[in-house]
Amino acid sequence: MNFKSLPQLLDYFREESTCIEYYENLRWQGNPTCPHCGAEKPYKTNRGYKCSNKECHKKFTVKVGTIFQNSKIPLRIWFASIYLATTSKKGISSVQLGEQLGITQKSAWFVLHRIREMLKDKSPRMLGEDKMVEVDEAYIGGKEGNKHISKRRSLKDKNLTNEGKPYVPKKTVVGIIERNGDVVLKYVPNAELSNMGAFISKHVPKGATIYSDEAPVYNHLKKYYTHDSIKHALNIYVEGSVHTNTIENFWSVLKRGLYGIYHQVSDKHLSRYLDEFSARFNNRTLTGQQKFEKFLNDSESVLSYNQLTAN
Ligand SMILES: [Zn+2]
Repeated sequence: MNFKSLPQLLDYFREESTCIEYYENLRWQGNPTCPHCGAEKPYKTNRGYKCSNKECHKKFTVKVGTIFQNSKIPLRIWFASIYLATTSKKGISSVQLGEQLGITQKSAWFVLHRIREMLKDKSPRMLGEDKMVEVDEAYIGGKEGNKHISKRRSLKDKNLTNEGKPYVPKKTVVGIIERNGDVVLKYVPNAELSNMGAFISKHVPKGATIYSDEAPVYNHLKKYYTHDSIKHALNIYVEGSVHTNTIENFWSVLKRGLYGIYHQVSDKHLSRYLDEFSARFNNRTLTGQQKFEKFLNDSESVLSYNQLTAN
């Protein structure tokens, strides 16, 4: 199998049987395993397998226990969706995906959320072991957040609308990024030390070099890290290696994606969108096919429609 474009992928995965065979090899490596009890060597049936363990005897297919479970959408369409969601720079909306692949917007919405679940980095590595790190927070949501992002660079401006009115940010996202490396993101209740500090110490080893803006919440970093801050309030943006341009660039891609493609993102789903954006960013040097294969290896997670729509 070799594909460099969506038509090539669809061409290779024309038959559902090809998709199933491909996915069985990827998931089981020639050794089908019952997802209910873990027994090997099941009986082959017309539509999949039947467990050979007498206590179990359950029927299953390769989709059970994965993001494809209980979905009537062909694997071919799922595979194409994974390809589109991970290769488009800023993501793809459920409307666009539905139109491109001939499924309803509602189905596409569900497919995309399950894909986001798959994209979630279940064991992120530590950042800053051999690279410099920048940390910053972004405010997502509300109309003000959408305006003149490039101009709202100073700390002062972050707290005012373009009309100069106080602005209460709806959603705070904290980000840690390596220069020429990876990013990790977290949606936090607010930009207070209790949230930020724990997140940073979880992802950055002590002794690393961290740059931030002059927000007081970052003052404590000096205790554990080599820390320096840039004085945005004085309109200084770069001082030698001290700057936060890497994370600022990331925020602008994130915001353009969230506002341009997804329009509005509810509190409930914001973390999933963050998983999607960081997965795309952290795997940006891979080809479309490499991403497809890598992420498909992580597809053993189930997110039901009920879980998605529950309050
Ligand atoms: Zn079994």
